[in-house]
Amino acid sequence: MPTPKELTLDKINSHFASDDTAREYLELILWPHGAVCPHCKNADAKRIYKIQANPAKKIRAGLNRCAECNKEFTVTIGTIFEDSHIPLRKWLIAAYMICSSKKGISSLQLQRILDLGSYRTALFMTHRIRHALRDPIFNDKLSGTIEADETYVGGKTRGHGRHFMGNKVPVVSLVERGGRVRSQVMRHVTGKNLKAVLKDNVEATATIMTDDFRAYRKATKDFASHQAVNHSAREYVRGLAHTNGVEGFFSLLKRGVMGTFHHISEQHLPLYLAEFDHRHNTRFLTDGERTVIGLEKTVGKRLTYKE
Ligand SMILES: [Zn+2]
Repeated sequence: MPTPKELTLDKINSHFASDDTAREYLELILWPHGAVCPHCKNADAKRIYKIQANPAKKIRAGLNRCAECNKEFTVTIGTIFEDSHIPLRKWLIAAYMICSSKKGISSLQLQRILDLGSYRTALFMTHRIRHALRDPIFNDKLSGTIEADETYVGGKTRGHGRHFMGNKVPVVSLVERGGRVRSQVMRHVTGKNLKAVLKDNVEATATIMTDDFRAYRKATKDFASHQAVNHSAREYVRGLAHTNGVEGFFSLLKRGVMGTFHHISEQHLPLYLAEFDHRHNTRFLTDGERTVIGLEKTVGKRLTYKE
């Protein structure tokens, strides 16, 4: 089995061609210390039994029985792969393609690469993977120096800036210098809304860097320090005060949205933001490691068609 660092598209194809090996790989990733019952969380290896596959009796491979709760389970239960008829190998390839493509990959391209029967299936897979990549909210806050800024994504209206929004959707991103990013859709970019997002995502000891948009003054009051560069006066860097990090992130996001996805509905934008955030947050790792971390995030993310 390839280590996360070694995982490539070629290795997925050669090692995980059969459903059995693909499933065993997922077991290795999701159960590093042995099987865990998803029903009662029992992880005692002596109290979990492998059930022998038997096609004649319709007993599928990878089935386990928990002696604590007496229920059966496989590794895909509770993940985005549960109940899917798409071979696990194709899921692995899709996850790898999404995690390794700097500007993302369109569902149409994935449909062609994976020989999927319909665009709807491809869209279903990519949305599920993006949903998996979403990080839990309020999980350890950003700290140190945080660059906060907003941008306007999608839509066909020309022009930009806060007064020329048209049908574009406002996105606010918080970039921790040298670290992670958190992005969210914010219908109304106001001091009150910015304040709430900053409070939820950033430690009070942080220094916040913004441009001179007035709403940030109120929004950053409770933080150790706030420094604004005066973009209206063409000031972009003043000592350590600048928003170059978050602007770099936005430029990649916009190239991805325009070049790869063409049109993203407001409803689905949070999923794409999760995808771009995930790649940014794992940018120092290999494509394989970035994919494996993505696979780890599939747990507890089961979705139905309706959702
Ligand atoms: Zn159990």
